Amino acid sequence: MSEALKEAKIAYDLGEVPIGAVVEKDGVIIGRGHNLTEQLKDPTAHAEMLALRQAARQLGGWRLLGCNLYVTAEPCAMCAGAIVWARIKKLYIGTMDPKGGACGSVFNIPQEPRLNHHVEIETGIMQQECQDILKAFFKELRKKKSEEIQL
Ligand SMILES: [Zn+2]
Repeated sequence: MSEALKEAKIAYDLGEVPIGAVVEKDGVIIGRGHNLTEQLKDPTAHAEMLALRQAARQLGGWRLLGCNLYVTAEPCAMCAGAIVWARIKKLYIGTMDPKGGACGSVFNIPQEPRLNHHVEIETGIMQQECQDILKAFFKELRKKKSEEIQL
């Protein structure tokens, strides 16, 4: 998770919502990503999507068998779907997202019994650090917005 947090920090410095993800197989990181939706002007450029894509390129196939994904914030419905399709074994989550999370909060797509692949989930990994960086980002964003209004 500390590697996923490093990715989140890169996003933070770029002015992106600071979320980071890494894909690990047999103790080796084979994919990493940080949120780039603003830079790439792409609503699908979430940290998890970018990390999954890199891992699939690395392995030469879309089935990420035996791979685990670490992400600083609970994945959304799109990413949760991609995690299932990629056949991720276990998902490690930093902080939950009660407003948009699809891995236990709003939905629980990776453990939906009607789907034929299920992903193990462990939450609360370095929860405080993962939450702090998001809080700091949104606090700064609100400050910037209120300053703009004053101008
Ligand atoms: Zn997402």
